[in-house]
This record gives sequence, C-alpha cells and structure tokens, in this order.
Amino acid sequence: MRNKAIKRKQGKGSKKCQRCGSMRGTIRKYGLMYCRRCFREVALDLGFRKYR
Ligand SMILES: [Zn+2]
Repeated sequence: MRNKAIKRKQGKGSKKCQRCGSMRGTIRKYGLMYCRRCFREVALDLGFRKYR
C-alpha cells in the first residue's frame, strides 16, 4: 500500500475545505476554511464583492 493518505501536521494540504472536503487551495483567511472555489461562493454571502 503505497498511496495512503499522507499525514501532514502543517502546511499544504493540512486543512480541508469545510464545504466540499477538498484539500486543494484551501483558504484560511478570515477564519474560514474553504477551498478557493467554495470560498468564492461563500465570500459572496459574506459580503466580499471583489471576488468575481
Ligand atoms: Zn470547497
């Protein structure tokens, strides 16, 4: 079994998107934990308007 999930304590891939569970491009800004894709959608709800 080679390709088990890699355990990482910190850094890239340590955080999951709370929305879709993706670990790619996760953004922790503003205390959120979303991937950039979900962040864009959530940001609209929160009032961020610069993400278009
Ligand atoms: Zn996501």
